[in-house]
Amino acid sequence: MSNPNSGTRYERLVIRNATVINGRGTPPFGPVDILIEKDTITEIAAVDPISLNRAPPDWRRPEGDHEIDAAGMYVIPGIVNMHAHISFDDKCGPRGPEYAYKLSLAHGITTIRTCGFGTDEKLVEHRRLSDENEITAPRLVILGSWPAEVTTPEGAREAVKKLHDLGVDGIKIIPRPHVNKEILEVIAEEARKLGFPAGIAIHIPQYSELDALDASEAGGDMMMIEHTYGIPQAAIPGSQSLPPDYNYADELDRFRWSGKIWTEADQYPERVRGVLETLVRNGTAWDPTMVVYEANRDLQRARTFPWHEKYTVPQVWKQFEPSPGHHASYHFDWTTADEVAWKMKYRIWMKWLKAFFEMGGTITLGEDTAFIYQIFGFAAIREMELLQEAGIHPIDVIKIATTNGAKRCGLKGLEHGIRQGGKADLAVIDGNPLHNFKVMYGTGVNRHTEDGRVVPGGGVVWTIKDGVVFDAKRLLKEVEEYVAEAREDLAKAG
Ligand SMILES: [Zn+2]
Repeated sequence: MSNPNSGTRYERLVIRNATVINGRGTPPFGPVDILIEKDTITEIAAVDPISLNRAPPDWRRPEGDHEIDAAGMYVIPGIVNMHAHISFDDKCGPRGPEYAYKLSLAHGITTIRTCGFGTDEKLVEHRRLSDENEITAPRLVILGSWPAEVTTPEGAREAVKKLHDLGVDGIKIIPRPHVNKEILEVIAEEARKLGFPAGIAIHIPQYSELDALDASEAGGDMMMIEHTYGIPQAAIPGSQSLPPDYNYADELDRFRWSGKIWTEADQYPERVRGVLETLVRNGTAWDPTMVVYEANRDLQRARTFPWHEKYTVPQVWKQFEPSPGHHASYHFDWTTADEVAWKMKYRIWMKWLKAFFEMGGTITLGEDTAFIYQIFGFAAIREMELLQEAGIHPIDVIKIATTNGAKRCGLKGLEHGIRQGGKADLAVIDGNPLHNFKVMYGTGVNRHTEDGRVVPGGGVVWTIKDGVVFDAKRLLKEVEEYVAEAREDLAKAG
């Protein structure tokens, strides 16, 4: 089966000479030949079995009808981005979904979990088209948007049923002030009864009366805490020390004071530890999406990423730029003091994220693109760098980025990463991500040649989703053309 855009699935595909990082948190091994029959990994054969002391008498290398030479390259399971927003309006230009999908695939992302809002039906159709390889897109796991108007337990029960009928994989909820603990318990109970493989993801706004403990107690192991909201809140006795003129509805206020919340919670380390232990005990996962707030600790850096020029479509750039009228565009009075507060926040946030990891808590990788100068694909790689900055070993970061997400999405055949019998969702990388995650950025890295020159290299070369092979560099080229066209069209329109 072939996709008119770029993806092809083969009867027998062999990836030769690869070094594998399997996504289960164990060390790399290779070189191996990986045989993929249609959508399934059927053999992982050491190229030199004698070195492993177990060459069978009839040993031979697998043969395919198509081959990829991955000598010097690393193969990891496809990345699962647990937090994306796919817009069908003009927010990412006239072909927004395609833009998001191609940038994601080009960075080795083979699954996107969408987090609302209001595009559920269109996404259900895209999920079908992606599964049938009719569109160039990662697998779609859809979290249905929780309807803000529900105010009663009966209404909540109805709303969960409606989402289930729609065929979404889970629920994304941002509890308004009227969603109390009782309603959240009803939502979780009904969701558990009906069965949503991807569970419930909750973004707890500061004005909510709920915190991470309430969410964890209600939803247990089907609950995921998005971002960081609700965790420091649960640890601080009473309210955060907000100034009298604070107003949550003012986004500048909201993000400015959010920069101080971990610093305040850190004054109560036993309480923070207690909150995290409860999450771990209940099996509640944490999807921190550190990347999406990074502009808050260094605005100039975020505005001048080297990839903006070629890959950031002007429509989305317009949303990033400061404007009191747009969500998450509050940098019109962003000060040195704000950045200093956020730098401190990241240090403390990362310290507790690492503690959560060490307690055995489940962390996943999420981008929350496209907001605050972060775009699809590039943000996932940056999140891996931030997880490493938090003190987590790159081998574990790859596990977080791949199989942890697959498990929380209920994706059968992907939960164990690269192994015989598993689904073929893979990224073939020009370079070793354990040495440097930057080799995975679409903009690549510098390489030294033997005669002393510096040449461009790196990047994901092939992304394989459900056995369908995508040329990652070609996808990037297509995005580059789309962005250039969108700029021209806007210029013409004046
Ligand atoms: Zn979001």
